Formats: sequence, C-alpha cells, structure tokens
Amino acid sequence: MATHRTPLIAGNWKMNGGLDEVDSLAADLARRMAGMGGAAAFEMAVCPPFPLLAMIAAAIEESGIQLGAQDCHMAEKGAHTGDTSAHLLAQVGCRYVIVGHSERRTNHGETDAQVCAKAEAAQKAGLAAIVCVGETEAERDAGKAVATVLEQVAGSVPEGATAENLVIAYEPVWAIGTGKTATPQDAQDMHAAIRSALVGRFGAGTAAAIRILYGGSMKPDNAAALLALADVDGGLIGGASLKAQDFWAIAEAAR
Ligand code: PEP
Repeated sequence: MATHRTPLIAGNWKMNGGLDEVDSLAADLARRMAGMGGAAAFEMAVCPPFPLLAMIAAAIEESGIQLGAQDCHMAEKGAHTGDTSAHLLAQVGCRYVIVGHSERRTNHGETDAQVCAKAEAAQKAGLAAIVCVGETEAERDAGKAVATVLEQVAGSVPEGATAENLVIAYEPVWAIGTGKTATPQDAQDMHAAIRSALVGRFGAGTAAAIRILYGGSMKPDNAAALLALADVDGGLIGGASLKAQDFWAIAEAAR
C-alpha cells in the first residue's frame, strides 16, 4: 500500500521580513489557510527570523499554519551567547526547525556532525528537524552529486529519526537563490536515492513516511512539475515565500 505523505510547503524567510510582515505576510497566509476550512491538501510552515517567532505564532494561531525556526543550538541551555535552544523554540510555538541549511554550512562552517547534533536536540525538544542537504555545482559537474548528498544524509540525520521528527530538504546549492532548478528527472533521482538510504537505516515503513522536500528557486511557475514527482513531498522555499500570493500559489500546486 502506498504511504500517504502530506506535502509540506515551508517558507524560509532567511534574514528577511520585519514587523510589517507579521500582518502583510503571516496574517495574509493565515486568512487564506483559514479560508480553506481544514480542506487544504498540504501542510504549510513559515520560518521567520528569531525575533519575529512569538508575534508570528500569534498571527497564525488556529490557522493550521505551522511555525518553524531557521536554526537551533545542540545544547538545551548554557553559555552560548547568540544561540537559541530547540527547547525554547518549542516553548514559543515552533513545530519545525531548519538545520544544516547550506548558508549555515558555508557561512558558519557547520559540519554534518554539528547538524546531526542540532537535529537530535530538535528531536528531544519535540520538534521536527528539517535537515538540509545538497551538492555544489562543482560536485554535480564532477559526477559526485549523489555521493555528496548521501554522505551528508548519513552524517546529518540522527538515529531515532521518524516521520514525526524528521524532514529532509534536498537543496542543490547552485539552485538556491539563483533562478536555476534541478530538472524534474535529477530531482526525482536524488530524492529516490535519499529515500533508499533511509530504508537502509530506518526500515521501509519509516523511510516511506519521511517527507523529502525540494528546495532551490521553487516558484509558482515551476512548482507543479517538481511537486508532482513521486518522491518530492513538498518544498522549502526561500525568495518566493516572501510574497503571500506566490507562496500560496506554490502550496496550491502541491496536490
Ligand atoms: C532556501 O534558501 O532554502 C531556498 C530554497 O531559497 P530560494 O527558494 O530563494 O532558492
């Protein structure tokens, strides 16, 4: 029997959005979602910068939209100036936390082991980690895309992963914010390879239930082709998540 995976459409606002977006973006999405009366074929999440989390939690309350953060520390508390624990994210209403985004791996030197520890901290706090993986253009050109991504999956996904506490986002680094996307065939091949790796570690049932999102310049005009792929279970969307109309159009393409 085929496992039903509800598509997850998650918006990564990155270091964008301010107080204005609480009403103009989050509340707008909340109204659209509430208007669906629980009939949406997708799950939606928004991941704003840390200072907006509590306000956005209030703006989307009871809409069914989930809240996510963009990073967490691996420790529950302590002397970690500038960091935020998964435990606190859960307290302010988060359901998801993105870990290992390529911008964190590149700009902050995050390793697979650190990403794995963060995902584990998210699990312990009752959150679902959205673990990001993806190859660079040089790695793809060298024919090493699948090997690179599977190594990241092996190193970044903690033991004890389930469909409730783990989502994987395949985001080719060369596609993020560039307007380039993976071809549907390349995306499907990569997602299928990731799912096979999950079968080996967690068993067929769990692997079939874990959602694998595509990320990298997903827009209203390319979303339907990507979201229709057998192993693509939603999207992690950067730029296009900052406009309610575009983000909603992407979500509506997930059927
Ligand atoms: C991202 O940063 O996760 C992302 C996919 O960005 P964009 O959609 O802008 O390429």
